[in-house]
Amino acid sequence: MAKVLGIIGGGQLGMMITEAAKKMPEYISKIIVLDPTKNCPASQVGAEQIIADFKDKNAIIDLANKSDIITYEIESGDSDVLKSVENKAEINPSPETLKIIQDKFLQKSFLLKNNIPVPDFLEIKNIDDVKAGLKKFGFPAMLKARRDAYDGRGNYKINSEEDIEPAYDYFKGQSLLLEKFVSFKMEVSVIASRNTKGQIKTYPLVENIHETSILRETIAPARVSENISKKAEQIAEKTMTVLKGAGIFGIEMFVTTNDDVIINEIAPRVHNSGHHTLQSSETSQFEQHLRAILGLELGGTKLLYNTIMYNILGSKEFQGEYKPLEISEDNLFLKMYGKKISKPLRKLGHFNLVGRKGESIDELIKKLETLKDRAAV
Ligand code: ATP
Ligand code: MG
Ligand code: MG
Repeated sequence: MAKVLGIIGGGQLGMMITEAAKKMPEYISKIIVLDPTKNCPASQVGAEQIIADFKDKNAIIDLANKSDIITYEIESGDSDVLKSVENKAEINPSPETLKIIQDKFLQKSFLLKNNIPVPDFLEIKNIDDVKAGLKKFGFPAMLKARRDAYDGRGNYKINSEEDIEPAYDYFKGQSLLLEKFVSFKMEVSVIASRNTKGQIKTYPLVENIHETSILRETIAPARVSENISKKAEQIAEKTMTVLKGAGIFGIEMFVTTNDDVIINEIAPRVHNSGHHTLQSSETSQFEQHLRAILGLELGGTKLLYNTIMYNILGSKEFQGEYKPLEISEDNLFLKMYGKKISKPLRKLGHFNLVGRKGESIDELIKKLETLKDRAAV
């Protein structure tokens, strides 16, 4: 029988999961999202909405009562509350997996214990721990909030002694970790999936270009040697084997200046660097996520066309109502998320620039350069 799917979070990721779910009526009869913003992106494409905060316990119980299966687009959900409603609905990725991943210190400790490479890191309880950590790691180093961080907002780079106090004060009472600063050649990621029966599939390695800690472009495939993409794939496979969660996981990695591949962080959800799969790949990450949590055979992950994904971000100087981007070109697939208000660097949409047969990444990069001005909102 077709199931009712509950999603915690109805932003752009919930929206694209909803769109994929609507194409699977034999498995999913209805989609309900929990989101605090009235008329959230997912509700605009046919999801029912419970309007409440992500951490509202009663709303989560309500969602669990109405759903057969629950997933999420944000990693900041309360894993204990989710655990308490597991008798009402199946939750994937599981609350146990979420609990590990949503805390960067627990996540890195878990990876280290399983011999998966991560930057050197230390738990921070007070400012003396920071000073001791810096003696060990040297400058610069990255002080990070353990939880609830995104788009680099939970990071503070410590370049010298003078930064120690401002960095520590910046986080006011939050739980922290300190990381050695990694000198990297490139940031890359693997979109990996594991279904409830343990089948694992990974998508080819992609290259991520960030601007002020926010993802700006994803280039598929990554411009690295076969040796590096193999290393990254092996790390992703191993991670999925030990993690045991079902669903899509976005595994962000660094390729270091010594050509080592190490994990930066894992997102227990569909990931911005997987948006290219909507047009470039045999199966989109959103359909794959649903196949994984429904226990269906996973779809093919082959990259069919070289593709660049470009994020449309709110202008740095503007907040308020804006005109959604309109841009039409051959092989350009624009997706606006239906957000009413623009804020500086807010993710408002993306487009995929899909290569024709035989079209190289260099040609796509050139094409993108001619479009960037027109892609400003
Ligand atoms: P996201 O939006 O991807 O969830 P986040 O806020 O959780 O991001 P991170 O992914 O930890 O933050 O870091 C953001 C960016 O900061 C990374 O993509 C990378 O460019 C840089 N960065 C993070 N940690 C390190 C490190 N140890 N060494 C060097 N650069 C780092
Ligand atoms: Mg993160
Ligand atoms: Mg990140």
